Parts: sequence; structure tokens; C-alpha cells
Amino acid sequence: MSNTKTVVTTCTRDCPNTCGLLATVENGRLVSLKGDPNHPYTLGTTCVKAARYINRVYSKERVTHPMIRKNGEWRRATWDEAFDLIAERMKTIRDESGPEAILYYQGYGERTALKLLNRYFFNLFGGVTTLRGSLCGGTGQASQNLDFGERISHDPLDHYNSASMVLWARNPVSTNISLVPVIRDIKKRGGRIVLIDPVKTRSAALADLHITPKPGRDVYLAMATAKLILALGAQDAEFVEKHAVGFDKYVEILARYSVMELCSLADVPMDQVVSLADVFMSQRPTSILLGWGLHRHKSAHLSIRAIDALGAIAGIIGVPGGGVSQGFEEYGPYDQSYWGDELNPPRRTLLMPVIGDELLGTDDPPIRMIYVTASNPVCMAPNSDKVAEGFRKAEFVVYSGHFMDDTSDYADVFLPATTFLEEEDVMATYGHNWVGPVNRAIPPVGECRSEFDMFQGLAERLDFADRFRREAKAWIKDVCAPIWKQGCTPEQLRTGAFRLDAPMAPYEDKTFPTPSGKFQFMTEFDPAEVNGADDMFPYKLITCAPHGYICSERTIADHEPLPVIRLHPDEAARRGLENGSVVLVSSKQGQVRATLQTVEGMRRDVAAADRGGWLKAGHGLNLLTKDLASTVGMGTPYYETTVSVERCPEDEFLGLRILVVQNQERTVPAFLGKELTRLGAVLDICMPFAGDPLPETPEDFDGLVVLGGAQNAFDDENYAYFTLLMRLMRAFDAQGKPVAGICLGCQLLSRAWGGEPFSCGGLEYGFTELSLTEAGKADPVLGGPLPRLMEFHEDSFIPPANAVPLVEGEFCRNQCFRIGKASYGFQFHFEIDSKIIELWIQRFRSQQMGNYNKYSELYDDAFFETMEAELPLLLTGSQAFCSRVAANWLRLCAKRRSEAQ
Ligand code: SF4
Repeated sequence: MSNTKTVVTTCTRDCPNTCGLLATVENGRLVSLKGDPNHPYTLGTTCVKAARYINRVYSKERVTHPMIRKNGEWRRATWDEAFDLIAERMKTIRDESGPEAILYYQGYGERTALKLLNRYFFNLFGGVTTLRGSLCGGTGQASQNLDFGERISHDPLDHYNSASMVLWARNPVSTNISLVPVIRDIKKRGGRIVLIDPVKTRSAALADLHITPKPGRDVYLAMATAKLILALGAQDAEFVEKHAVGFDKYVEILARYSVMELCSLADVPMDQVVSLADVFMSQRPTSILLGWGLHRHKSAHLSIRAIDALGAIAGIIGVPGGGVSQGFEEYGPYDQSYWGDELNPPRRTLLMPVIGDELLGTDDPPIRMIYVTASNPVCMAPNSDKVAEGFRKAEFVVYSGHFMDDTSDYADVFLPATTFLEEEDVMATYGHNWVGPVNRAIPPVGECRSEFDMFQGLAERLDFADRFRREAKAWIKDVCAPIWKQGCTPEQLRTGAFRLDAPMAPYEDKTFPTPSGKFQFMTEFDPAEVNGADDMFPYKLITCAPHGYICSERTIADHEPLPVIRLHPDEAARRGLENGSVVLVSSKQGQVRATLQTVEGMRRDVAAADRGGWLKAGHGLNLLTKDLASTVGMGTPYYETTVSVERCPEDEFLGLRILVVQNQERTVPAFLGKELTRLGAVLDICMPFAGDPLPETPEDFDGLVVLGGAQNAFDDENYAYFTLLMRLMRAFDAQGKPVAGICLGCQLLSRAWGGEPFSCGGLEYGFTELSLTEAGKADPVLGGPLPRLMEFHEDSFIPPANAVPLVEGEFCRNQCFRIGKASYGFQFHFEIDSKIIELWIQRFRSQQMGNYNKYSELYDDAFFETMEAELPLLLTGSQAFCSRVAANWLRLCAKRRSEAQ
């Protein structure tokens, strides 16, 4: 009988929606993650990323036990080993260089109540170097603090009072889904939705008007709109006179420009500015919601302050249904004394937006150790190469996370963290006014531990254990004391969200916590700050939040072969680039290969892409971005980066055409296919089992890959195309064009050259130790160490007479051979990724593997548990091997092509 339960919890990911969730668990396993209809704001809505999160929790790439790296090799470790090593290194570094030689890098991955205690831990230790500044919304908050005294946003439900709404660089469809019903309600009531964004996001479909200003020039658009309202005498004179200061000086700034000039500087047609002004004047109140893209310019404060000023002039400040709303203080509801900063004299901080420079340049003491939680800075911080160099410089790096991502590549210790579904905590948010329960739905996967438990374990080894070691519940009670003071109890919060004591519409009394007690207009404006952008390259690079992922939360297998770069079709045509072609995106900082997508409705001076892809998967867009800090708020102006987009210059691999023969639907080229594509090859997939005709000759191709399949290699009766395929393999080789056969493909290659497939009389399944022969060690394709590789076959082959054996195994001797001019047979599956292996494990365990079902009882739960625990390392080894073989094999294809030319 199945045992099912549903747990109320809260999404803790880096997303302003912070949804109430219902996690359904069957027999201890999470089976669904849906919106909680009882959450007062999110009301059961969630995004596409919610359901997908289950895959993340159980991903075969997830690291589920601690690991220590020595001499470049990861090995599995116990928690005690990991804690002992970390505590000992921390103490040594503190004794030798002082605590500031340690950097605690706390990311935004999760911002729960218990996460406050991470810094408390380091403060009890003596106060280490921490971070200042932000990769996210710091500029907006700092700018609004200048105007309002304190940034306080309208409750999202207050927007039901809005007559119209302006989404200023905000994309709720992808990043704030619970705003969508509010927007639909406004539209239903006859209101207008204006989207202001240089990129055509999914939210454009909701907008009545989409304005696409030049990136970073929103300040001029806001000024032009304000000037029009003032010109018509439609401003909120009472607010301006009684509740604001600096208006006269702001008007002087406006007076320097005509509306026409401002439109031209913003690169927005005058009629659109007139329409925007008309929305403010005729649809009262209109609310403005600021997005995070707006912050990503060096002088973003000028745009944000000009938008605040527009709000004041339009009469929407302190008005229900109005406001200029940016975000909420996610750590606000907690007792912030638990950061513990007052325990020490102020300690050194490093500036987050330029963390690469900071790590490389910091001395006295230099950073000797970095401890990272909930972040992937090598991927997400600008100028990735420099960040990586900074991490390389540190002698000891501890990484707490879920996956072997770009930052983990620089770690010495990997601490596997739980997800929020395995934790007990409390979650506030930067997107609304509700605080929610984080209730444990499932036990920790593998040996994973929460960050809280990790710091508890470390504290046991340090001299402040008595001040830090307590139950999570006791800490939550203390850290959340301000919430209990508002009338909620810890027990009540476990059952659902609680609305914090915050206004629906802030500043209704029109008093502001500024020095003047009034709203403060910006009174200084230097156009050089806005116009002085680096225009070395023609396109501003806009790296948007993707629809399907939060930041870098993905796996290697999730990545397409190349990132997509979007350009206006006319720009692509001007450069002779076709939609879908492989292009080179270059900036002063670096270069990335990408697939071009042309998009109507985009600005012509913008190249847009989704952010968050990993460097190691070829998607590292922060290899391109410039590292500098914004003028106000220490934010990260990613969008100051300009790029060129050009046809990829000819190199040895570019444009090589590889025929890939697939022998069954589910056995795809996987990681090998992606690697070949990343290197520049074009793959033509042929599925003869499904009726695709095989090419008669190799003329149109530079190489041939034949994949595996469940068929017997001698089953010509049922697979008549085998004869043609073997003939084709020989024809490729006759022309010196390389062939690679994998598993079934290997057996067919053997047959094609006179070898003989046979049944092993058993199954070889799982990652297996293999060894290189002497010829294998010297082989130009294999060259280098051999990791354990995945086997899944019951047939083998007697190699053809002239074959050169390259790899041998114990159960099945012939594992890889070379024959002819450049033909290789690989019995093992070096092409796999985590998705394929997941499918194979799941189908094998559930007896869905046809002929192979008879073997399933030979492999018990313990076999799979061991294999799954090792998978992140096994896949890393297999994929490193695959990358090497793909490049070497493709080099043979390239050599043949150049010799033929
Ligand atoms: S990622 Fe955002 S929208 Fe999606 S479930 Fe989590 S909080 Fe909700």
C-alpha cells in the first residue's frame, strides 16, 4: 500500500515569487511539487521551474556525499573527515595570517532565516573577510533609499487597485508569475500595460505598448515622460509642493533638454512617449514595477531616480494602486543581530561585482581560503576568467552546493547540501510581504546536510561550540523573534504563510524617512555618466533571466550544445549570418561560440542571451562580461558589456559534417553529440530503424558515428539496413574518413571488417575498470588516462584480423579497436550523460528493458545505490574522456578534409 503525504512548504530559490508549495511524497519519494492554493498571494500559481525541481532533487549529477580533492583527484570522504580537514585549515590560517585571510562567500541561492547564522558562525570564529555589494538588486535599493529614505514597495496585491501598470524592465511571465493574474485583472478592467524593455521578453505578449529604449538610457525616457506631463500641467502639484524637495532643481535638469532631444537620447519614438505620459495622466493610479535588468548599468541610479521622480510628478507616490515598486527586504523580518557583526571590529569586505580583481589584488593578508555557500561565482560573477584565476590563487576552497558546477572545479572540499525540500526553516522574500514555512518533505538525499547542520558540525571542532551548537528549532525561535512579535507563533507558521506587518501602499501619510522628511527629487545629473558607455563593439550584451531556469541552477545534461544569442534579423542579414548558424560572440574580455537566433521586435543594437549557463558546458556568457561596480549601490553593471557577433572564423573543425546513425529512438548521441557540435561540427542524424534512408556514399560527410542499440549485430533478418550500414562504414574508411562505432556500432564495425559478433552469455552493466593496451596508450584518439566507463551489452565480437586492440576488460576482453585508415570501435558507452543513465537505470530497475529484463535480479538495490552515489564523479570522468576522444577523432576528420582540398 502506498504511503502518501502532502507537505506545505515554501520555495526558497532566488526568485521574488517565493511561492507557497505543496510537496506530495509517496513512500518517502517526492512525486509532485505544486502551488499551494491557500497561499494568500501566490494562490497556487508556480512556474515551469517548480515541477522541474524534482528532477534536480533526484538528478544523477547531484553530489550526495562529501568529497575531498587531493592531487587533483576527488575522492569520497566522510563528514568527519571533511569537517576535521576544514576546521584544521581554518585554525591554521587564523593562527598564521589572521581570520581575514579567509573569505566567506555567501550567495543568494537560498535566503532563509537559518542562513543568517552562517555569518554568525564566521563572526564567532573571529570575523573573516566577507562581501559587500551585490550581483543583483543593490543599486535599486540604494537609489530608492535616496528618494524615499527607505525603499518600501507596494504589496503586490495592492496592484489590484492599479488602473494601469508599467513594467519597467520587468518580465513577470518568466520571473514573477503571480503578477500575471494581477496584470490580467488590470487589462480586464480596461487598464493598459506598458512594457519598457530593450529585449522582447515573454511579457511583451501581455503589453498594450512595448517601448524599447536604448539600454541604460531609461533616464531620458523617464525625463521625457515627466516633461510632457509637466508641459500639460497634469502633474500632482500638491505632492510636489507639500511633500517633496528638490523639484525646482529637477525641473532645471529637465529644462536642459527638449522632449524631442530626450526621445532621441533614449532612442524612443515621440508617439510612444506621448502614449506613456497619457497612461499616467488618464489611468490614475498607474503603478510602476521596476525589474532587475534596470540595475545592470553603471549609472542605473540615474534611471531609477528619474523613474521615482516621474512617479512623484505623476501623483502615484503614497497612493494605493500606484507607487514605484522595486523589491522587499528578505532578511528584514529576522533579528539581524544574529549576523553577529558586532562581535568583532569591522572586518574587511571584498566588492562582489569585481570579485576577481579583489581576490587577485587583496593583500595583507591575502585570501588563503574561500568558503562558498549557495553560489556559483565562477559562472555568475562577471569576467569569469578573472574570477577563476582568483579562486585558483586561494590555497584552500570549500564549496557547499548540489552539483559539480564551475565553482566546484576550484574546490578542495565539496560539501553536499540539501535542497529546501529536505530542510526545516523559515523563508522571507524580496518579492512580497509574506513569510512562509520551509517544512521538510523528504529526508536528506544520500548523505546531504543542510548548511545549518554543516556549520553545527564544524562548530563542534572549534572553540565556540557552546555558543553555536543548538537545535534548528531553537535558533529559528530566536532569529524569527520579530515575526512572533507580530502575532504569529512558530507552530502557526509551520502550517502556512504569515503576512508581515507592512503597508499595502507605503507612504500614504506622505512623510518619508529622508533627512527632509519629504520625497527627494534627484537634483544632479551629469549626462557623461550615462552616455560614456563602451562602444568598442556594436551590440550591448543583455543576459536575461531564462524562462526555465533560476540563475545557474542546471545540470550538465540540461545544456544545449551551444548558448543561443539573439539578434534582430536585419542585423544578422547585414553581417551575412543566417538564423541557426554558429557565430562567435566577442567582447574585450573573451569569446564564446553560440547559435544565432534572429528575433523580430528586438533592438538592433542589442545582442540578448539567457544567463546562467555553465562555462564547462560551453555556455559561460560571463567570460564576456566586464567587471566593474555601479556608481550607487555597489551593484553589478553586466550590461556595460558590448560585443560583436561574427561568423565563426574558419578553424580545423568548423563545418565538418558528421553523419550520426542512430539505431533506436532512445540511444542518442548525448554528450558526444554536444561535444562534436561545440567543437564546430554539424551533425546529420539518420535513423534507418525508423525508415530514414542511409546515404549511399560518404561523399557529403567528413566522418561517421554509429551509435548503440538493443539489437543483435547479426540480426540482418529484422534489420536489413545493417548490411548497407556496414558497407557504408567500409566506404567511409576507404576514403580515409573516420568512423566511430559505439556498442552495437562497434560490433557492426567489427563485422564490416570480417570480425564476428557473439553473445557473451551474460550482461556487462555498469561503470567498469578497463585498461589500455600498449597500442592504446600510444593511440592518437584515446591518448591519456582511462576512467571507469559505462558498459551495457550482452554481445561482444571477435575482432577482425587486422584490428589493433586498444582497450581491454576483464569480463569482456575486446573493448576498443582501431582498423583501416581511421575506424574505431568502442564497446563501452562513453557518449552518455546523466539523462541517458537515469533512463537506463530506471528502465532496468523497472523491468522495461526487453531482452535485458532477465538480468535485473543480478543487480540489487545496493548495486544501484553505490553506483548512483558515485555517478557525479563517474560521469565527470567519462565526460572528460569523451571530450578528449571527440576532439582527437574530429581532428582526424579535419586532417582528412584538409588533405582532400
Ligand atoms: S522558482 Fe519562483 S515562481 Fe517558481 S516555484 Fe519557486 S518561487 Fe515560485
